[in-house]
This record gives sequence, C-alpha cells and structure tokens, in this order.
Amino acid sequence: MQDMLESFDLKKQADELGVSVWKSPGFLFILMGIIIISSMLAVYFVFNNPDSVEYLLFSEFALVLVLFTVGNSIISGVDEIARANKMKTEFVSIASHQLKTPLSEINWEMELLVSKFSEGLTEKQKELIGNVGNSNARMIRLVNDLLDVARIDQGRLPLVKEELDIVGIIKDVIDNNRNLAASHNVKVNVVNYGSVPKIFGDRKRTVVVLDNLISNSIKYTKEKGNVDVAITPEKDRLVVCVKDDGVGIPKKQQKNVFHKFFRSDNAIKNQTEGTGLGLYIAKNVIVQSGGDMWFDSEENRGSTFCFSLPLKKNDKFYSVSM
Ligand code: ADP
Repeated sequence: MQDMLESFDLKKQADELGVSVWKSPGFLFILMGIIIISSMLAVYFVFNNPDSVEYLLFSEFALVLVLFTVGNSIISGVDEIARANKMKTEFVSIASHQLKTPLSEINWEMELLVSKFSEGLTEKQKELIGNVGNSNARMIRLVNDLLDVARIDQGRLPLVKEELDIVGIIKDVIDNNRNLAASHNVKVNVVNYGSVPKIFGDRKRTVVVLDNLISNSIKYTKEKGNVDVAITPEKDRLVVCVKDDGVGIPKKQQKNVFHKFFRSDNAIKNQTEGTGLGLYIAKNVIVQSGGDMWFDSEENRGSTFCFSLPLKKNDKFYSVSM
C-alpha cells in the first residue's frame, strides 16, 4: 500500500530520476489514464449523437495530437534518464581513475617512511602512521570497487576464464581473513566436501567474491559464532555456500540485497563500516562467469549466501538484470 502511495508522489519520483515532474512516469501514467477515459466518453457521446460526425473527426484529430505529444515526452524522458545515467557512470569512472594514482603514491611513501626511517619515530608516531595507512587502504578499496561498478555498468568488466581449484582458493581466503575472524571471535570451517572437480572462472575475481562472502559472514556476526563454507558438486556446476549465525537481513529489505549501495538497517547499526558495493560486484562477476548467486536470511538467526560456477568452460558472456 505504501509502495503504491509512493508511486503517486510525483515530485519525489521526478527528483529521484532527475527529470521534471511532467516527464515523470507517474505523471505520464495519470495523463494516459485521463486520455483513455476521455476518448471512451467521446466515443460514447458520438455514438449517441450519430449526426455529429464533425465532432468525431475533431476529437480523433485532438486525440492523435495529444498521444503524439505524450509519446514524445515519454521518449525524451527516457532519453534524458539514459544520458544522465551514462554521464554518472563516466564521472565515477574518471574520478576513480584520478584518485587511484595519488592514493597509491601515499601508500608507497608511507611504506618508504616506515621502512627507511622507523628508527627515528616514536611509538605514538608509528601508531599514527599506521592509522593513516589503514584509512588509505580503505580508500584504495573503495576506489577499486567504484571502478569495478563503473566497468559493470558500462558492460566492460573483463574476465579471464581458467581452470580453478576452488578448495585451494577458499583455504587462502579463510587464511587472509583470520585476523578479522579472531577479532569477532568467529570460527570459520570448511564443511566436509570429498572430491571436488575443477571449475571455470576468473581467478582474481573469484577470490574477490569469496572474500566478500566470507568477510561479510564474519563482519555481520556480532560476537562468537560459526561460519561454515560448504562445497557441493552437482551435475554440471559446483555450488559454494557460506552460512553464518549472525545478524541476518530484515525480510522487508531482502529484495534490495544485490542492489548497488544497499546496506540493511541492522548492519548499519552493528557495523558502521561498509559501502554496499561488494555483493553487487560479486553477483555480476558470478553471473558473467556463467553461474548464479542467491541467499536465504532471517533476522537475528543468520544468513546463507550461495553461488554456482560451471564445471565446463563456457565462452558465452552473460548480462545481469537486477
Ligand atoms: P558492505 O558489507 O560493504 O556493506 P556488501 O555489498 O558486501 O557491502 O553487503 C551489502 C549489505 O548486505 C550489507 O551492508 C549488509 O546489510 C547485508 N549483508 C551482506 N552479507 C550479510 C551477512 N552475511 N549477514 C547479514 N547481512 C549481510
């Protein structure tokens, strides 16, 4: 009901889409309704007054004119939205490229400072440099994520497909997350899997996907919990599921989980850090690799995020609709 009422808030809809009110879908929808009702009334009127053929001709002419104007508005509205979207993606891409170089320079120079002059630094100075380094690393991750989002939106995310040993990749990712897991008092287990066939996917990107799912499971478990990574070979695909007993995702917000910048209310409350880009990128990588990603979650009970990848090489490229 609330969703329906919101769809009639024409000003809000126009502001969200960045178009004028009279070009918003809600306004054009109402206008079309008025035109249809008026034309039905006109037909009724003419039917009851068979002498008024001039009226019929005149109203037909007026109707065609109005429909033409509305059609033109719809096309120019869609065109405006598509252009604004393209400009936004290009802006994000250019800004991220420009930010990447100075951030990487800060990183190198900080490393140089610590390695060459660490003897002249007090403990406090070293701690401050460490904090700057961590913040810089966070900014580099954000810029890299924004670049990936821009590549996805422009349909040019490059994937290099090769044969992968998923068990080895999972073990490496768990190992890289051991400090995070220790700080949340979370134990990460690989569930008994038996013999696992090789799969096809992009190595670097598959690591990013698994890192996102495993680090999320740890991050969104408040304190003391278990994360289980299960690997299930099926007929022509391999399914990997990451299950946690953490904060879960509220039912009402679950439809937005794979949308860009989505962060659930309970996640923002418990874990202030996060961009809401990881799952958007992960789902796109998996779907473009010929697989799929899905989840199941219950608030305060936990979540299970799964993805599949094909066992056979498949050169087809897929586009994601979300
Ligand atoms: P980030 O973690 O940086 O916010 P993601 O795209 O990885 O971005 O995740 C988007 C949102 O999905 C998170 O902010 C959180 O609300 C929710 N989420 C993802 N994984 C989990 C999980 N395992 N448990 C609970 N919520 C999750």
